[in-house]
Amino acid sequence: MATDFHKLAVKGVQSLKPYLPGKPIEELERELGVTNTLKLASNENTMGPSPLALQAMQKAIQEVDLYPDGNGFVLKQKISDKFKINTNQITLGNGSNDILDMVARTFLGKGREAIFSEYAFAVYPISTQAVGATARIAKAFDADHDENPYGHDLDAMKALINENTRVIFVANPNNPTGTWLKSAELKQFLSEVPKDIIVVVDEAYFEYVENEEYPNTMEWLNTFPNLIVSRTFSKAYGLAGLRVGYAVCSEAIADLLNRVRHPFNVNTVSILAAAAALDDDNHLNNCVEMNTKGIKFWRAACQYRGLDYIPTVGNFITIDFEQDAMPIYEGLLREAVIVRPIANYGLPNHLRISISTPEDNQRCLDALDKVLNELGFE
Ligand SMILES: *Cc1c(COP(=O)(O)O)cnc(C)c1O
Repeated sequence: MATDFHKLAVKGVQSLKPYLPGKPIEELERELGVTNTLKLASNENTMGPSPLALQAMQKAIQEVDLYPDGNGFVLKQKISDKFKINTNQITLGNGSNDILDMVARTFLGKGREAIFSEYAFAVYPISTQAVGATARIAKAFDADHDENPYGHDLDAMKALINENTRVIFVANPNNPTGTWLKSAELKQFLSEVPKDIIVVVDEAYFEYVENEEYPNTMEWLNTFPNLIVSRTFSKAYGLAGLRVGYAVCSEAIADLLNRVRHPFNVNTVSILAAAAALDDDNHLNNCVEMNTKGIKFWRAACQYRGLDYIPTVGNFITIDFEQDAMPIYEGLLREAVIVRPIANYGLPNHLRISISTPEDNQRCLDALDKVLNELGFE
């Protein structure tokens, strides 16, 4: 009889749904025979990385016969200098997803629980369930909530805390909604969470947020030793393909994360490119400025067309088409524009569109107008 491998897997994995990435350009071009595809599906920075990072990569490829520096000294030193934190507080990850996984392997497991919000980033349930822990999902604010539609409801999250809770994941801003939490409310939440529960604040889009009420959580690490701040080079730094992220936390937690971290988890090219990227504030500022303009462009475009969107501070905007969004997604694919359906997040009527250059934004909007027109939207 054939072996039932599904049955052999640990329980959490049996019920896991695999992560659904944005459609790769090559795949679409193979399937539909289109060319010149515009991918706005994975919140990548289409401006690309800093030229300094590209130079560093060129140089780094000469060293790939050697194992990387397993401690990532060069990059940790740069992060330490930039944010005025100790290098012992930094953990490097193969993307910040790796950080989320390290947190799960360190603090979660059978009989333990993690809390996160409805509509939160899809990797939280994967990391939680893969180690046999239970995910507790707090209801998010309603679509018609005044201040923070679809946003994390911190009171609802707090209400799920019990004696088995070990980790709380907070995405700020969140993906795929673009919603965010203000400094005062997040700080209040942290002060109310028991000190023996780890709170991960996932700041993948940190660099894009320009609002002065957006928290600088790294300054809170002394007050909240149970806080882990997670950041990435995949978004504003334009290095998604290199897979580099990092966590900043208390030295005690960093020491634990380091025990489960795979040796050499971040490769030589990534370490050196990320370190160089941190030197180029000018490039980063240009990317952020373009994104802020892009948010305004999309807001105006949606308002003009009477389309509802979730207010965003990230490099993407999530639009509510008030009906199944799949035909719109598929129509856009035929126009060689890839955006992101988010039915897997419980938002089947929404599409998430990454913000890009003015030309790309306009091209996507023109394609969207064409598709909506074909589908008989008024
Ligand atoms: C994109 C994203 C990440 C980052 O993933 P990497 O592994 O660093 O590429 C983490 N959290 C959220 C909420 C994201 O949207």
